Amino acid sequence: MTHFGLTDCHCHLQDSRFDSDLPEVMERAERAGVCRFVCNASAPSDWDKTVQIARDYHNVLPYLGLHPMYVEPLAASPCDAPDGSWLDRLEEMIINTSRELAQPVGIGEIGLDHYVMPRNDALQESVFHEQLLLATRLGRAVMLHSRHALDRVIKILSEKDVELPVFLLHGFGSSTERGGRIVWPDYRRIAAMGGYFSFSANILKTHHKKARLAATIVPLDRVLLESDAPDMPPNEAVPENWVNYTKYGNRNEPAIVPAVLAELYKLRNMPVDELAAVIADNEATFFKKW
Ligand SMILES: [Zn+2]
Repeated sequence: MTHFGLTDCHCHLQDSRFDSDLPEVMERAERAGVCRFVCNASAPSDWDKTVQIARDYHNVLPYLGLHPMYVEPLAASPCDAPDGSWLDRLEEMIINTSRELAQPVGIGEIGLDHYVMPRNDALQESVFHEQLLLATRLGRAVMLHSRHALDRVIKILSEKDVELPVFLLHGFGSSTERGGRIVWPDYRRIAAMGGYFSFSANILKTHHKKARLAATIVPLDRVLLESDAPDMPPNEAVPENWVNYTKYGNRNEPAIVPAVLAELYKLRNMPVDELAAVIADNEATFFKKW
């Protein structure tokens, strides 16, 4: 199988589960054909570590942002705190890091999570909207998290003051259920707004029917691949060549990305080299400066 040098469009290399062996993890990924990594921060506490990984590895692009599962502490420290808010710091870090690395740092992982409990929807939405305004102002790509919240995410992305160059709905497999009936989002409309869809090892799992179906129907020119490592491990759908799985237990690695590509070519019934070439084009469009 030929690989064109795949990009893992969404992972978390700064996660403490990689602390002891990140160089080996990167080497395994590169040996498997993954040569670029989009490393997503989650909260101010991991922004510095995420940037440091991008300094250490020339093929890592950092995205910085505040994930909806980590907005709660902000309730106690509002945006207009006198010592400068998380949002001011985010803007400053994005500008400075982009300059230092000579590449445009994006904003992520951000979005809405209607699954986490307890949760504060109003706070999640205001934090999300603030970051979308920052992305609009700086003209940056956005990495989106949406769990059981796609309708609201699309609604907020459609607001008049939000205008993103591109955005990526990560770990995609989403539909909305209304009255017990599955309603698929309008993929063409999302694509027209600048949306891309990235698929993870979830499509290897036969019971993930919605993700597998979504992978066959989203516009081909908007498809990207990811691991979400160390999360979203393949579990029971371990590919044959996934030799490290048992050693590290329930941890995913970017080296899974070629297996996601292989499954996608089966689902879409396309020659793998042709699909890999399309995905390489999609990557080139999404990450313009790479
Ligand atoms: Zn993630």
